[in-house]
Amino acid sequence: MQRFESSAQGTAGVPYETFCEEVMSAFGAELMVLAPTGDGDYAYLRFGSELIRNVGADRVGERISTMAPQVARFTSACYDQALADGMPRYTVHRSLKTVRVYLWERLIMPATGRDGRRFLIVFGRPLQFREELLTTVLDTSPCGIVALQAVRDDDGNIERMAIITANRRAATIAGRDGEDLMDGDAQASLSFLSDATVWRRCIYAIELRRADMIETSLICGSQTIWLQIAVAPLGNGLVLTITDVTSLTVANQMLQSRAATLALEIGRERATRRALTQEIDQREEREQELRRLAETDPLTALLNRRSFTEKANAAIVACEESRAEMALIVVDLDHFKAVNDSHGHPAGDAVIRAFADLLLGLVQTDYDLIGRFGGEEFAIFLPRADLGVAQRTAQRIQQALAARRLPVSETLSLKVSASCGIATHRSGETLSALIERADRALYRAKNDGRACIRVAESRISAAA
Ligand code: GH3
Ligand code: MG
Ligand code: MG
Repeated sequence: MQRFESSAQGTAGVPYETFCEEVMSAFGAELMVLAPTGDGDYAYLRFGSELIRNVGADRVGERISTMAPQVARFTSACYDQALADGMPRYTVHRSLKTVRVYLWERLIMPATGRDGRRFLIVFGRPLQFREELLTTVLDTSPCGIVALQAVRDDDGNIERMAIITANRRAATIAGRDGEDLMDGDAQASLSFLSDATVWRRCIYAIELRRADMIETSLICGSQTIWLQIAVAPLGNGLVLTITDVTSLTVANQMLQSRAATLALEIGRERATRRALTQEIDQREEREQELRRLAETDPLTALLNRRSFTEKANAAIVACEESRAEMALIVVDLDHFKAVNDSHGHPAGDAVIRAFADLLLGLVQTDYDLIGRFGGEEFAIFLPRADLGVAQRTAQRIQQALAARRLPVSETLSLKVSASCGIATHRSGETLSALIERADRALYRAKNDGRACIRVAESRISAAA
């Protein structure tokens, strides 16, 4: 190019004879000389030795019209222009005939002889190395790689696509192992392109110049093959990078089906566990209810004698540990036999129930224990209570009975009184001993005219 530029003379190009002399010694092996034949063709006058080696023949005497029509048309158009404007041209073209060389680069330099005849001095060199590199890259790729060129009709619509290049892997994936797909029709050679959706998305990728990622499957014999196709627009065509994802897809499908089965099993397990929990809850509720029934007196819902004894014993142990005082009140309704005799047994029951409610309202039941000992006799155990607390509790009972009548039925209410015996716990004393002392105090209250409170002696008397 430098030499051409330094000796070029306008539209005539370079002076033929002197330019040839200058460049032949250095570049002769890669130079050819052509002359227009006057009928639109060009004839080779000279064909360098490197060119002969690469093409496999000496073209001297031949015309360029003997080349493949496409290449011939392209070449003669370039030559014509170079001669017309006297400017050099650089071209790259793909050879359709030579075996070893796929791409050629040419520097076309117009020249004029002393006698005014026109010539073209053409430097030609194969781009074989680059092609080989590309081929190596393509052929060692684990993906199928295909370059497609859109072929359009007169209205500019894409009619079909031609394969410009395709690597070996692409041929294998297309089910045409070992075949050369180059120059073939894309849809005919690559079966996945006959899928209408895949084809439409490829057309869109070209027209909208937008990359795409397509997943598709095709049946190959008895096997379904899954392909992932990366679509990249390139000029008036596309490059497809095709990955066979069959084993991945199959593994994925298996995993998904396993996940579904697992989810089902987990669902079943959860349902079973829920049912079991419900069953356990119900059983616990029933057991609680049974325990409550076993502990309570059915008429008054107070503690029965057995559970009162149990709980009071536990409370005594706890209070002794913390050296707390405690007291017991025994209460017995006065002349209760007369209530039964005058109003009947059911009325007596109603009085007992009403009196139990009255006790529940007066005694702090969170710590205190109220039990029905049988008949119309009740016991109140007061943990952490001294004599004063017990006396005040008994007085509240007396006052409540003095102030109100106990309801028996909708039309009847009765005025009743009760006697109370109080005993405070002595260190190391058993519950039955404590009850016995409270009972004796109660007996005194009865003897002293009833409706009163008596306290058991707090110290053991010499007689006892
Ligand atoms: P006091 O003032 O001496 O205690 O006289 P009282 O009549 O209350 O004494 P007593 O112990 O002799 O009588 C108790 C009566 O209570 C005897 C029994 O018929 C009655 N009785 C015992 N248990 C029940 C019961 O569950 N319901 C009813 N309605 N009466 C009962
Ligand atoms: Mg009584
Ligand atoms: Mg009694």
